[in-house]
Amino acid sequence: MAAYDVVIVGGGPGGLNAALYLGRGRRAVLLCDAGTPRNAAAEHMHGFGSRDGIPPSEFRRISREQLRAYPNVEVRDTRVGSVEKHEGGFRVALGDGSTVDTRRLLLAVGMVDVMLDIPGYKELWGPSIFQCPYCHGWEVRDQPLGVLLTEPQYLDHSAVIQNWSQDTTVFTHGAFAVTAEQRERLQALGIGLEEQRIRALHGKDGHLEAVELEDGTRVARKVMFSAPPQRQSELVTRLGLALDEQGFVKVGPVGETSVPGISAVGDMTTRLQGALMAASAGAVAAAMMNHGLIQEDADRRYTAVTGKPPASKQKPH
Ligand SMILES: Cc1cc2nc3c(=O)[nH]c(=O)nc-3n(C[C@H](O)[C@H](O)[C@H](O)COP(=O)(O)OP(=O)(O)OC[C@H]3O[C@@H](n4cnc5c(N)ncnc54)[C@H](O)[C@@H]3O)c2cc1C
Repeated sequence: MAAYDVVIVGGGPGGLNAALYLGRGRRAVLLCDAGTPRNAAAEHMHGFGSRDGIPPSEFRRISREQLRAYPNVEVRDTRVGSVEKHEGGFRVALGDGSTVDTRRLLLAVGMVDVMLDIPGYKELWGPSIFQCPYCHGWEVRDQPLGVLLTEPQYLDHSAVIQNWSQDTTVFTHGAFAVTAEQRERLQALGIGLEEQRIRALHGKDGHLEAVELEDGTRVARKVMFSAPPQRQSELVTRLGLALDEQGFVKVGPVGETSVPGISAVGDMTTRLQGALMAASAGAVAAAMMNHGLIQEDADRRYTAVTGKPPASKQKPH
């Protein structure tokens, strides 16, 4: 018999809320977290009802503290290295070299943001370069904003950013040609356009001051909105889960992946990335996983009492 009903991999909002639901669902749960949250560079987390503006580390601390009310939930600061199928469930290898057995696996490992190769980008990611205007737009409203786009299909997104400040300039970093039609639209909306490659982003103490273009021109900006490319973690790649065309793990309505017994939630499954969305998906997947385990146990009990296979496994006459 596996030691755990569910091993949760990842202790961000997705994994933490899944642990809360499974704990309350009376499951034996192990949550493993490697301690590398996506929003590590952010000073505050916004848009999560009742927690608006909380530092991300504080959010995690409170979530973990609340999990302590459930003795059936164990939390370990460790990276899950590998997962193998084992006796109808999984054998999970942990960072300290030990292994644990579990009936189900719930992944909430987030995504890895791949920093753009522009001097200053990595340093300013978090305090001055943001991905989502709902997360950080309010605080920088009406300031000089930049939008760094490296793919033409997102050009219309600059009008969304302009909602937070009329002083908005798009930077294409020389990555694509802007059509006459697109140029006319930006001009009509009063959105600036810089098409040169960016030589560097300049800032002080994490605060962006200027964008230096290839020809040396410096464009004063306080904030840049930019969504860098993302990749899945090594664990997901090793598991061989089916991905969609954008590289996110393909999931069913309640988080089921292409591998039976493994569910996935949060950033790793969608472009709609936010703490509340991840937490919500974690709750749904956890509840449905628990229902599956309860039914599995009920089937076993039924067979033990009656000697018959459960109705779902009986052949139709
Ligand atoms: C700079 C920045 C600012 C943001 N600001 C906001 C905001 O203000 N409001 C908002 O709603 N959203 C914000 N977001 C988005 C938000 O952080 C994510 O949507 C959310 O954290 C996703 O939760 P998650 O549980 O899917 O993944 P994550 O929070 O990324 O958590 C994944 C966890 O899994 C762990 N992990 C990975 N691999 C393993 C492994 N093999 N074994 C064990 N553990 C593993 C990682 O260490 C990490 O702790 C921001 C994102 C960024 C990048």
